[in-house]
Amino acid sequence: MIKLFRYLKLKEWLYFLISLVFIVAQVFLDLKLPDYMSRITMLVETSGSAMGDIWSAGGMMLLCSLGSLASSITVCFLAARIAASYSKRLRAEMFNKVESFSLEEINAFSTASLITRSTNDVTQVQMLIVISLQVVIKAPTMAVWAVMKIAGKAWQWSLATAITVALLIIILSIAIVLTFPKFRRVQWLQDALNQSARENLTGIRVVRAYNAEDYQEKKFRKANTELLENQLFANRTMTLLSPFMSLSMNCLSMSIYWIGAVLINSIAVESAASVAARVGIFADMIVFMSYAMQVIMSFLMIVMVAIVLPRALEAAKRILEVLKTEPKVVSGRLTDAGGVSGEVEFKNVSFTYPGGSGEVLSDISFKANKGETVAFIGSTGSGKTTLVNLIPRFYDASAGEVLVDGVNVRDYDLDTLYGKISYVSQKAVMFSGTIAENVAFGANAEPEKLDRAIEISRSADFVSELGEGTDAYVARGGTNFSGGQKQRLSIARALCRDAEILIFDDTFSALDFKTDRQLRDALKSETEGKTKLIVAQRIGTIMSADRIIVLDEGRIAGMGTHKELLKSCEVYRQIALSQLSEEELAI
Ligand code: ADP
Repeated sequence: MIKLFRYLKLKEWLYFLISLVFIVAQVFLDLKLPDYMSRITMLVETSGSAMGDIWSAGGMMLLCSLGSLASSITVCFLAARIAASYSKRLRAEMFNKVESFSLEEINAFSTASLITRSTNDVTQVQMLIVISLQVVIKAPTMAVWAVMKIAGKAWQWSLATAITVALLIIILSIAIVLTFPKFRRVQWLQDALNQSARENLTGIRVVRAYNAEDYQEKKFRKANTELLENQLFANRTMTLLSPFMSLSMNCLSMSIYWIGAVLINSIAVESAASVAARVGIFADMIVFMSYAMQVIMSFLMIVMVAIVLPRALEAAKRILEVLKTEPKVVSGRLTDAGGVSGEVEFKNVSFTYPGGSGEVLSDISFKANKGETVAFIGSTGSGKTTLVNLIPRFYDASAGEVLVDGVNVRDYDLDTLYGKISYVSQKAVMFSGTIAENVAFGANAEPEKLDRAIEISRSADFVSELGEGTDAYVARGGTNFSGGQKQRLSIARALCRDAEILIFDDTFSALDFKTDRQLRDALKSETEGKTKLIVAQRIGTIMSADRIIVLDEGRIAGMGTHKELLKSCEVYRQIALSQLSEEELAI
């Protein structure tokens, strides 16, 4: 938690100092009240007192109360301000950090957990700041000050107060020890709940189609019930504290009155002096009572902190975990490759997923020259996606070198590297906004460039049908477009950038054969000079590539043109024969 303080800004520290002044003022005014109360009691009980004195003491009481109220409001206001702006910064820091993460860190934390950490966890810390600013400083100051004020009065009262305080400390400690682990778990259970809800919502169509609502509900219920039980236990224990507090407060008042009565009774009414002594004890009793209540109230306030503290501490730890994690993919410094452009080379590259057991890619070496089309084919799980993911550094190779324009990708400044590559993923990703925003994403495209990209990607026909053209609305995740349309738009997005290397990761499989063919022809003529790396399932898609690399269980099983491979590579032949007849293949 303390480590998170370094994200506080000077302005917030300043607000903090101002609130300290107001907190001390409030405590001072609150503790001044009993003094005036005692004065009024003395005046009322003493015959012949002037009414004016009572009025002025009462007036002072009123002023003290108003002053205390004003201070309290100011502290609340400042606490809310500090907490809100601080948590805003914390959320922004988290967002930036997560943006810098490679897939390895994102997978390690899990998306659900990262969302809870940047929202719910930050809220917990925010709540702790608000409450603790009002309580953590005020309560102990109040308690110590009040104890000092009552120290000189009858020892019996002090003893009664001490016993009550000791009892409260014991009860509070037991409650904290019991609930601390439960409250800490709540944040983790929240992750599980989020995960379950996300999974269900993203897969809602599959869930419906397979009538799997009950199954999904069971999974959700499990996470939900566990969270409920944890929270119930922790909250019930904490709720029990409240009646205990009231009970001890009432017992203490009773004892103070009782002890007071005994003390007053022990003085026989014999003279004016003894009457005065009795009145003195009565006034003391009233004052003592107020102070003792202040002490107990301080403990009540501490209970409030005790309720939010364990969760907030755990939340702070989880936030720090994210902020302290350094992304494995670190940007290099190089911003210029020195004239070479559009070259991709793998030199003895091997790759194992972080935490994975075996090599997914082994000893991969090939070179794609400027303007060439290199295709990758192989059975599912043979490592095609993994291979192309190494070029934009979604992951770094475990061994060997991945070179772009003759330079190791690790040496590039990440922005420079990303500028060289246009990547279209297997799953078309769309963002809420317009078609133009989606296609020009990451580039400041002129309308002609946008239209050209849409034209080449064969999106023009369905875009023009939309009426608003490129200003047509795209729903979140592109749900108002078909799979093939989304895929074509994501190809348009890649074409809209002036990147020298185009990577298509199984992008064409969502397209029908006709569009696939038209698109490939258009790509060929319109993107001449650009290097294209294509991952594909269909032989038809890659038949005309300059070079085809056949992957089998992470190794290169063959490399060459379609014709060469048909003769030399058995794996390729099998794939080809499974899709086309011998005549079509013209063997
Ligand atoms: P392809 O694109 O050829 O279908 P992939 O490159 O997606 O194959 O996957 C190759 C292998 O790597 C598979 O065995 C798969 O289980 C494994 N794999 C893919 N992604 C991950 C990941 N994030 N963590 C661990 N293993 C993975």
